[in-house]
Amino acid sequence: MATQRQLFLQHLAQVSPEPLSIEIDRARGCLLIDKKGKRYLDLISGIAVSNLGHNYPSVNRAIQKQLKKYTHVMVYGELVESPQVLLASRLAGLLPKSLGSVYFVNSGNEAIDGAIKLAKRYTGRSEIISFRHGYHGSGQGALSVMGDEYFKNSFRPLVPGNKIIRFNEMEDLEKIGKKTAAVIVEPVQGEGGYIPADQKWLTLLRDRCTVMEALLIFDEVQTGYGRTGSLFAFEAYQVVPDILCLAKGFGGGLPLGAFISSTQIMNSLTHDPVLGHITTFGGHPLSCAASLATLKVLLEKEYIAEVPQKEALFRKLLKHDRIKKINGKGLMLALEFESEEFNRKLITKCIENGVFTDWFLFNANSMRLSPPLIISKDEIKRACKLILRSIHEIS
Ligand code: PMP
Repeated sequence: MATQRQLFLQHLAQVSPEPLSIEIDRARGCLLIDKKGKRYLDLISGIAVSNLGHNYPSVNRAIQKQLKKYTHVMVYGELVESPQVLLASRLAGLLPKSLGSVYFVNSGNEAIDGAIKLAKRYTGRSEIISFRHGYHGSGQGALSVMGDEYFKNSFRPLVPGNKIIRFNEMEDLEKIGKKTAAVIVEPVQGEGGYIPADQKWLTLLRDRCTVMEALLIFDEVQTGYGRTGSLFAFEAYQVVPDILCLAKGFGGGLPLGAFISSTQIMNSLTHDPVLGHITTFGGHPLSCAASLATLKVLLEKEYIAEVPQKEALFRKLLKHDRIKKINGKGLMLALEFESEEFNRKLITKCIENGVFTDWFLFNANSMRLSPPLIISKDEIKRACKLILRSIHEIS
C-alpha cells in the first residue's frame, strides 16, 4: 500500500522539487510532532501565522462554541453575523478612527487585491506603486505589485500601470505623483528577509502620499497581531495608513484576511458598481471567532510586551562567525549567512536536529525565525543551542 508521503507526492499539486514532506501528526504550543513522534520546535509558525502557538485552548473553545451555532450561512456583507460584527467593532475600537471600516476576506492575497481595487475606485487613478523585494501574494493582482522579476516573469502579461521603486530610498519617493492611486508597503519587508522600514523614510512616504492624494496601503499580513512588538507595526512607527491589510496571524490559525479603511473610502464599494468587491467565504464565522479569541489573549496577556525581550535573547544567544548579521524586528528575525548553499544546508540540518525553520523567497542567504509569540525563554535557549550545534555540524 502506498504511504501517505507517496500519496502526497502523487496527488497533491507540487510546487517545489523537494518539499519538506514531514508527516505531521499533531501540533501543540511551539511543537510540531511527526508520525514517528519526533518533535520539532516550531520557529516559523506556519510562516508567521500561529502567533499563539498551536492549539491555544481559548481559541479552540471559541471555534467550538461558534461551530455549534453556525458555519457558513451567506456570502459576505448581507447578513448580520455576530462573529464578524464583534471582531470588526473590537478592531475599530483599537484602531484610529480613520480605520473604522473592515472588509473581511480569506487571505493576504485577497486583502491586497481588495485594497488595490478600493484605491483605484476611490481615487479614480490607476497607478499602483510598490517596492523592490516586496511580497503581497501570488494571485495576478498581488503578483503585479511583487518586487521580484523571477517569480513574475512566466506569468506575464500582468496588471499594467504599476511602478516598482526602491524600499528605504528617499529619492525614489519622488516617483509618487498625481497619477498614483496607492502605494503598497510592508512596514517590515517579509520575503525580502525581514527588513524594517526606516522610521524617517516611512514618515516621508506618508507625507508624500498625503500631498499627492495617493492612498497609503500597509501590508501588515505578517507584522499584524503582535509580531513586531506592538499589536500593529504602524503603531510603533506612528504612521497611519489609509488602508490596512491583515491576514496570516489575524485568523488565529484559520483562514482570514481583511482590508480596513475609513467608512468614507470604503463606501465607494457600495455603488458604481454595487458590490465593488465580492467574496463568498470572506469573514467565515469560525475564522472570525478564532481571530477575536486570539485578539483577546493578545490584549490580556503579556505576549506582545515580551516580544522585545525575546528578540534580545535570540540576538544575544545567536552569536557565531558564520552569522553575518541578524535582520528584522521583534519576532521577525532573519539570520544572514555567506551563501545560499550554506543556508540551505543549515536549514536541512536544523530540521534534522528538531528545529523547524525556513528560507525567504527574495533573500536566499537568510534563515527565517518567526516563532510563536508564546515561545518561552527556555524554548528560545534550546532553539538557539540547536541552531548553533547545526552550524557547527555543517561547518
Ligand atoms: N503579504 C505579505 C507580507 C505576506 O507575507 C503574504 C504571505 N506570505 C501575503 C501578503 C499573502 O498572503 P496569503 O498567502 O494569505 O495570500
